[in-house]
Amino acid sequence: MPELRQNFLTKEWVIIATERAKRPEDLVTHRPIKTVASFVETCPFCLGNESKTPPEVLRTPANGNWQVRVVPNRFAALARDLEPTRTIHRSRRTINGFGVHDVIIETPDHSQFMALMSDNHVADVLRVYKTRYDALSHDARIAHLTIFKNHGRDAGTSLEHPHSQLIATPVISHQVRGRFQHALAHYDEYGECMFCQMIEEELQEETRVVMSTEHFVALELFASATPFCTHIYPRRHMASFGDISAAEIQDLARTLREVLAKLYYGLEDPDFNFTIRSAPAECVGVRYFHWYVSIIPRLTRVAGFELGSGMFINTVLPEAAAEFLRKVKAEAGVGVGSSQ
Ligand SMILES: [Zn+2]
Ligand SMILES: [Zn+2]
Repeated sequence: MPELRQNFLTKEWVIIATERAKRPEDLVTHRPIKTVASFVETCPFCLGNESKTPPEVLRTPANGNWQVRVVPNRFAALARDLEPTRTIHRSRRTINGFGVHDVIIETPDHSQFMALMSDNHVADVLRVYKTRYDALSHDARIAHLTIFKNHGRDAGTSLEHPHSQLIATPVISHQVRGRFQHALAHYDEYGECMFCQMIEEELQEETRVVMSTEHFVALELFASATPFCTHIYPRRHMASFGDISAAEIQDLARTLREVLAKLYYGLEDPDFNFTIRSAPAECVGVRYFHWYVSIIPRLTRVAGFELGSGMFINTVLPEAAAEFLRKVKAEAGVGVGSSQ
């Protein structure tokens, strides 16, 4: 029987369509095995092509061969050298296009997808995220920061070279504001963080947990809107990604790399997005919000019902997705397939 489930965090309803249910492996798109070159002459992010990007904001290590670079996006959605000015004219509100749009080039090697990196290299990327996050969250013009990654054409990227992006905006979106209001209302009523409550329950129940480490837990949400949408939560209560400790970064690198590798090997390198959902700059340190990483494989398409109703139909049981991912070996170089 189909079941409607409500997302505890957002209050959004999802139809878990067991009548149309697919086994997780039915969503795998078998593709011809392609070999990706380590260097592509026309790629602006490849080693040796540094002059093809705008002047870099940051590189690590600072001297010698770089491992991670940050550059302004050449096709930035927003301009960083402005003072945000709000105007209200009758029903129309505008702010001039201030914002920061960085590209984080994760590796000099064109073929080194994050799923295939060493944990230490992923930790380097995360430390660069944090450096930029810390610098920008102290800028009084910035209200909210989003760090995200688009992998593959269906996820919205045409550049194959492993990279992620950061966009800082002078406003907080309606969607983010709504989630904060739910979290604040829950805290007011029950006196605890709704995320901490959910993490504790999921760890007890275990059925939707993909993996857990000393500091993080990766799980499928009870009311997951799309197949294999996986969240990674810090076990320690933290509102902002900027609060992460050095030991937690190392542990997150392992968890993130392993979840991405499970998707890579189990679902044959699906297109995906990931995003770090963290407190807006004005809410650093609050007790009611808890940052997390959301990984969304792009296995199905958003269609008319989703656009019209704001309600998603998920054809894979979150419990089945978690069980499938738990079984996929995620060591680099293991190859496609699951163990049993
Ligand atoms: Zn490249
Ligand atoms: Zn919490």
